[in-house]
Amino acid sequence: MRRKLAAGNWKMNGLRADLAALDTLAEQRGFDVDVLICLPATLIGSCAGLPFAIGGQDCHSATHGAHTGDISAAMLADIGATHVITGHSERRSDHHETDAMVAAKSRAAHEAGLTAIICIGETLVQRADGSTLAVIDAQLAGSVPDCATADNTVIAYEPIWAIGTGKVPTTEQIAEVHAHIRARLAARFADGADFGILYGGSVKAENAAAIFAVPHVTGALVGGASLKPADFTPIIAALA
Ligand code: PGA
Repeated sequence: MRRKLAAGNWKMNGLRADLAALDTLAEQRGFDVDVLICLPATLIGSCAGLPFAIGGQDCHSATHGAHTGDISAAMLADIGATHVITGHSERRSDHHETDAMVAAKSRAAHEAGLTAIICIGETLVQRADGSTLAVIDAQLAGSVPDCATADNTVIAYEPIWAIGTGKVPTTEQIAEVHAHIRARLAARFADGADFGILYGGSVKAENAAAIFAVPHVTGALVGGASLKPADFTPIIAALA
């Protein structure tokens, strides 16, 4: 059975002084779940010795070369990361990342030995017009490379309209999408039944237990509430 994963995504937040939050989190936790913090790349190298997995938030699809400002998956691995988020909706919108680019980045992550946390999710317009499952199908088909396995890939279902908004889907809506993702993974991959499938989007201490009780939800990708130990600890505890 796959262990539950509480993954924090600090996004573009955090200076070195803010790493004290991770020391506080380390003191408070003692739960039987995996905890991952996806940090700005500048902070990853300063986290040795903490009892968490550390991840990046993006990587380039190429191994090296003339890509000013970019970071390769091998660079993340070299500095101590074990995971990287690929295809977050903010990357898809801010940097025009397509499914094909997300698949290439995820492949690069695998080649560097990193676990890719591949994000998918619909917009509010797509939710309203009934195309959510079709969008999920297209993103799964296009963003998850054939080399994905339950060991090197975690899927994160993040409805775009729920990210940073305080709005959360109903548990029925989450259940429908997670069961759909599970079925698609099982149809495509030999170990598709074993992939972790996170939920992300306005996860808070107050809603975490209800979300984690939904079938096929194996953890959460948490943005805002991962920044402060007082907010993240109860979410980790709800998963344990
Ligand atoms: P949020 O972000 O928890 O702040 O909604 C989630 C995410 O973007 O991964």
